[in-house]
Amino acid sequence: MAKFIPLTVTDIHPTTADAIAVRLKPVDGSTLPFTQGQYLTFRTEIDGTEIRRAYSICAGVTDETLEVGIKKVKGGAFSNWAHDTLKPGDTIEALSPMGAFHTPLSPNQAKHYLGFAIGSGITPVLSILRSVLAVEPHSRFTLIYANRAARDVMFREELEDLKNENMGRLNIVHILKNDPQGIDLFTGRIDADKLEQMFKAWVPVTSADAAFICGPEPAMRTIAESLQAHGMPKNAIKYELFASAQTGQLPQRKVTDDEATGTRATIILDGTAQEVDVAPGETILAAALRAGLDAPYACTAGVCSTCMCTVRDGAAEMLTNHALEDYEVARGVVLSCQAVPTGDTITVEYLDH
Ligand SMILES: Cc1cc2nc3c(=O)[nH]c(=O)nc-3n(C[C@H](O)[C@H](O)[C@H](O)COP(=O)(O)OP(=O)(O)OC[C@H]3O[C@@H](n4cnc5c(N)ncnc54)[C@H](O)[C@@H]3O)c2cc1C
Repeated sequence: MAKFIPLTVTDIHPTTADAIAVRLKPVDGSTLPFTQGQYLTFRTEIDGTEIRRAYSICAGVTDETLEVGIKKVKGGAFSNWAHDTLKPGDTIEALSPMGAFHTPLSPNQAKHYLGFAIGSGITPVLSILRSVLAVEPHSRFTLIYANRAARDVMFREELEDLKNENMGRLNIVHILKNDPQGIDLFTGRIDADKLEQMFKAWVPVTSADAAFICGPEPAMRTIAESLQAHGMPKNAIKYELFASAQTGQLPQRKVTDDEATGTRATIILDGTAQEVDVAPGETILAAALRAGLDAPYACTAGVCSTCMCTVRDGAAEMLTNHALEDYEVARGVVLSCQAVPTGDTITVEYLDH
């Protein structure tokens, strides 16, 4: 379980002043299959502390490479470490690609996809866009990409090249908060008014089959509401959230073994069942890690889905959920970093990644 794969860094280059594109390949020379829009969970040790962070793959499924884009976050541990330390030839470990930010592709489909990306939210949308253009020759893609200024546009050259190579199939609308453009509509923040005008004049939502949105949570909600108001069904809209709306990262309260008397949990990992005591208010993941189980996890904030497991017996309540869809929750899937058992016993099973 939680099997980490060593990857060699084959190339690093800046894509803006504060973002790098990192190419990787498995150390053993194999290829690592992924679905467009999925992410890698990297593990590294910084100053003696193990850090795990998720980064979306931005390569397309036919690109024969793994590529991620890492934007520097002020005061951020992993992003600054990657910018300052990582170099070609280094090895970094990652879990197998995960995530459900995609719809199935097929060469016979003729679809119109909408992509909405804000800032570094371009990475999974770029993967989907590249994959659609390569795999579905009859489909087209409209990308609405919002940034503060032109200099902040990640993968700008790659997007221009893709546009030139796919005339008539790829339409890109840049919205720049601070830089005036020829058309007023394309300057400023993405808000409900701007979307209303855009959907009326530039992007007919009724012609679109699916939309992919990645950016800060409030903007994603506004875009989704606007798409639905213009007739797009809820289940045609896919989201990927990079960070929850929380400020800072308070360490989770550590529970001692003596305190752990709330729920008797059976945790099935790699097909092996193990009994663990979960203290009142403690999450399943925290209890599993405390008991020394090698349960998978990354963000521990309910944002990625690395730690998801299925409740086979009993019940649990999630403190927050930014990753699972309604139908997954209805099937009993929970984010174990957020799931607190509500009864005396519970059985959960981690899916094999
Ligand atoms: C599914 C998924 C995909 C993602 N894909 C991408 C991607 O493609 N590209 C990308 O750039 N990012 C991506 N992210 C975000 C990425 O995983 C990291 O969250 C991001 O890079 C910041 O990590 P960090 O270690 O640099 O910052 P962290 O160390 O996590 O810090 C984040 C912020 O919190 C502040 N902070 C930290 N600790 C505290 C504290 N105790 N109190 C107060 N403030 C604190 C820091 O100063 C900083 O501003 C993705 C996230 C998810 C969940």
